[in-house]
Amino acid sequence: MSNQPFRVVILGGGTAGWMAATALASMLPRQRYSVTLVESEAIGIVGVGEATLPQMKNFNDLLAIDEAEMMRSTRATFKLGIDFVDWGFVGSSYVHPFGIHGPGATGLAFHQRWLRTVSAGRDWSIEDFSFAVAAARANRFEFPRDGTAINSTYSYAYHFDASLYAAYLRGVAEARGVTRVEGKVRDVEQGEMSGEIRALLLESGIRVDGEFFVDCSGFRSLLLSGKLGVEWDDWSRWLPCDRALPVPTERCGELTPYTRVTAMKAGWRWRIPLQHRTGNGYVFSSRFIDEEKAREELLASLDEPLLAEPRLLKFEAGRRVRSWERNCVALGLSSGFLEPLESTSIYLVQIAIMHLVELFPTGKIDPRLVAEFNRRMDLEYDRIRDFLILHYHLNSRDDSELWRYCRGMDVPQSLEQKIELFRHSGYIEDYRYGLFNAPSWLSVFLGQGLTPEHHHPLADAVPVARLENELDRLRTEIEDRVDEMPKHATFLARYAEAHEATEAALHKAEARL
Ligand SMILES: Cc1cc2nc3c(=O)[nH]c(=O)nc-3n(C[C@H](O)[C@H](O)[C@H](O)COP(=O)(O)OP(=O)(O)OC[C@H]3O[C@@H](n4cnc5c(N)ncnc54)[C@H](O)[C@@H]3O)c2cc1C
Repeated sequence: MSNQPFRVVILGGGTAGWMAATALASMLPRQRYSVTLVESEAIGIVGVGEATLPQMKNFNDLLAIDEAEMMRSTRATFKLGIDFVDWGFVGSSYVHPFGIHGPGATGLAFHQRWLRTVSAGRDWSIEDFSFAVAAARANRFEFPRDGTAINSTYSYAYHFDASLYAAYLRGVAEARGVTRVEGKVRDVEQGEMSGEIRALLLESGIRVDGEFFVDCSGFRSLLLSGKLGVEWDDWSRWLPCDRALPVPTERCGELTPYTRVTAMKAGWRWRIPLQHRTGNGYVFSSRFIDEEKAREELLASLDEPLLAEPRLLKFEAGRRVRSWERNCVALGLSSGFLEPLESTSIYLVQIAIMHLVELFPTGKIDPRLVAEFNRRMDLEYDRIRDFLILHYHLNSRDDSELWRYCRGMDVPQSLEQKIELFRHSGYIEDYRYGLFNAPSWLSVFLGQGLTPEHHHPLADAVPVARLENELDRLRTEIEDRVDEMPKHATFLARYAEAHEATEAALHKAEARL
């Protein structure tokens, strides 16, 4: 390697671009690598993406990002899971929590014991045994405890203002040595023989050279798709939603520590509580409803005054068949988008950055690094795809075409197998890598109405009356510990107050609730 630093150029300054810039500048040795980010204020960013997953906290911790400062800067709230309303059938509701069901390591999966009591006639929900669900439904929050107590069995994520998050990270990244170049890319120079990208040519005449390029140009996918021609894998036959109408409203009502997603006739709508406003939006399939009707349905469903008009976003569910091609890696929307139902997009950016850092080139791009990165990202995308399809496919709604179509569609074999295993005896395939482990699958299987035909024979080892007593005690303990927790708004105000006032200490902790 020469003495010249290896120049990394990031195209795009949305969430993906600034997350990559912050991480690369923080983790790569400065004497060997330089990081430059090109973005265009005239084009702007997509500016939606307000709900995250618990992995985001690991990302912040790894990069020494101050949580309280980040939350204050992005008007963030805490998130313990997602409340799915009307998904299995109209009138149903279940929470996909960030946590396990039951008390932790129990040998036999906890839900097998629960199933045993249900088959013996007890009418209680698996949710009664999830600390995260109980806290979410009670609108309470505090940080999970260490150790093995019941209030250590959950984790948390954030809701935040997506445009404020990119702006916040920009400040962090620039302070850590990232050079930002303003301007619109007009052309891209490639090596004649290798086809590798050599430089971005801006409308202003500026030229930005590099050895390695990170495409964070959003849906445009300017480098990976536009220049390197990597094809698109279309997954819309399984994930038919292809439009969104986001709209912010004033904040009112109690500050919930969860996202709410409500199924609609041709898609679903979200509700995300932030400190200063509520994020809402309707994600729908243009095959089943037109934009005007969707807009009407969305507006009719909102109780709070609008802060702006809904704006239409178009997308397609799918991904580029490779995220790394030659000397370019795509992150974020330029590499794919699986629709926002389980808030997986920012996670995909984060995990791609982690894999990239682990496999980072030191000079000439080695195809073995490329293949390994692409293998890992295939796994990530496929697992998320199956989990998302599950929500649509396992439904018993009969009130509209979309839901009938989804129930009847053929699903990937990998998903079919998971469904059948669970249907048989509640068995859930677990895996070390990739998003969504057994507790997540469990909550969606049961929440969408799939009850296993049998429980595991090991659950019969203990007399059912003893099992019921244990579960009764556990349920009471969860209720008692949750009652001791502060309200989400109170906790947030206290946390924020400790680090300066936030929104007048959240309207004086929601006028003392
Ligand atoms: C309706 C909807 C809801 C979503 N909700 C969630 C959610 O709850 N949770 C979640 O994790 N994700 C969510 N997402 C996804 C999330 O918004 C994105 O993954 C995230 O914002 C990253 O976007 P990005 O940085 O890839 O693209 P963008 O924000 O679009 O940024 C693209 C950047 O490229 C620059 N650029 C483009 N072309 C040029 C050019 N020619 N020259 C110079 N610069 C250029 C732009 O200026 C911009 O800076 C949602 C997405 C949608 C559509």
